[in-house]
This record gives sequence, C-alpha cells and structure tokens, in this order.
Amino acid sequence: MLELPDPCLVVLVGAAGSGKSTLAARLFAADEVLSSDAYRGIVAGDASDQSATLAAFRRLHADLHRRLAERRTTVVDATNVTAFARRSLTRIAARHGVAAVAIVLDLDPALVQARNAARQARIVPTPAVARQLADLARSLRRAELDDEGFETIHRVATAAEVDAIRIVR
Ligand code: GDP
Ligand code: MG
Repeated sequence: MLELPDPCLVVLVGAAGSGKSTLAARLFAADEVLSSDAYRGIVAGDASDQSATLAAFRRLHADLHRRLAERRTTVVDATNVTAFARRSLTRIAARHGVAAVAIVLDLDPALVQARNAARQARIVPTPAVARQLADLARSLRRAELDDEGFETIHRVATAAEVDAIRIVR
C-alpha cells in the first residue's frame, strides 16, 4: 500500500513499454495525469514526434507549476529515466512545498521490449528503449534517486508487483 500525501507529485519512472500509462490509468483520474506523449501530440500533432520533446516538456512543466500552485495532486507520465528529467520535476514540487513520490517500474528488459514491440500504436524503436533501460539501470545502480528530493521511492521489479500496487490518499 502506497500512502500518498495530498497534494503530491507522482513521478512515474520506466522505459517505454514498462506500463506507466496503464498503471496511471488504473490508479489516478485522467485529469490528474500529465503525459509527455499527450503534450507531444498537442505541440506536434503526433504523440511519437521526438523532435517535439523540448516544447512538449516546456508545456508540461508549466502546467505542473500551475497545478501544484493550486495544490492539486499531479502524476507525470514520462520515462523519467535520467536524473536531469527527474530533478526538473522534483525542483518544481519543492518550489511549491509539495512532496514528490517516485514509482519506479524496473521490469525485466526483455519483457519491456516485448511489450513495446507488441503495442498496437506508437512502437518506440528498439534502440531507444534499450537506451532508456540502460539509463534507468545506471540511475538505480548509482542510487541516484535517493538524492533527488523524493519523499518516497516505490520500486517494483515484476509484473505481479505492479499489479499489487494500491494507493491510499
Ligand atoms: P508505457 O510506455 O510505460 O506507458 O507503457 P504502457 O502502459 O503503454 O504499456 C505498454 C504495453 O504493455 C501496452 O500494450 C500495455 O497494454 C501492456 N501492459 C502494460 N501493463 C501491463 C501489465 O501489467 N500486464 C500486461 N500483460 N501487459 C501490460
Ligand atoms: Mg505511456
């Protein structure tokens, strides 16, 4: 059971295909979730257009600022596999005095790649997923998240553990 302060920032962490959007849809209301894919869609008209990443995150961060200022719990559904990406989010939470919680989907790389490949839409290129998996593995090996301003880090390593995640607020 994952106890969430209210409000809080929930940072999902995991490579494409690890199940972030599926988990977010199960645990949170749709209007609480800021998804990088959705912002790419808004700025580029295409959820998979990686050239839109900078503009997409600028908007996502602006909306996160606004929501946390209004003290609304917000979930960021993006890979967040690098310290840079995560810190840019926890910094915003800290500025608003809102606690940040990380949910890390550290699943078997073969499972993540298989899920990504089997997806109906928006299959991310295999090398890109491999890069994300390597970035996450490095972050975890170095225990980077411990120093990034998270109040709680909830790390799961199997599909069963993901299914078992329950939240209370
Ligand atoms: P994201 O890229 O991290 O947002 O991952 P998604 O939530 O889009 O999931 C990637 C693929 O894996 C989709 O086809 C999902 O239907 C599938 N998937 C996600 N979570 C689970 C799960 O718990 N069990 C199974 N069997 N498939 C899942
Ligand atoms: Mg997704």
